Amino acid sequence: MNLTEARMQKARGRLEQMKAAGETITQEHNLVKKANANPGSKAKAIAAMCYQCFGGTEEELPDAGWKEEIRGCTSPACALYQHRPYR
Ligand code: SF4
Repeated sequence: MNLTEARMQKARGRLEQMKAAGETITQEHNLVKKANANPGSKAKAIAAMCYQCFGGTEEELPDAGWKEEIRGCTSPACALYQHRPYR
């Protein structure tokens, strides 16, 4: 299992935990939903891309530490690196 698959598996597990606890994924939690609701915002689009980089989708959350993972991103060659959220 590669890193992306492992992260997707964690995200699915987190989603199942939220569903079992009766929680719903709201726009507040989901950066893809936020970007889709604000199509003119470049900042929200960048944040959504970073969110997706750690396994998040419109339906699935990344693992619990996704904000810290984006903050600590180790890919300075990425074109979004200087613009990523949570720095
Ligand atoms: S800046 Fe980092 S977290 Fe954001 S898209 Fe690029 S590699 Fe992924």
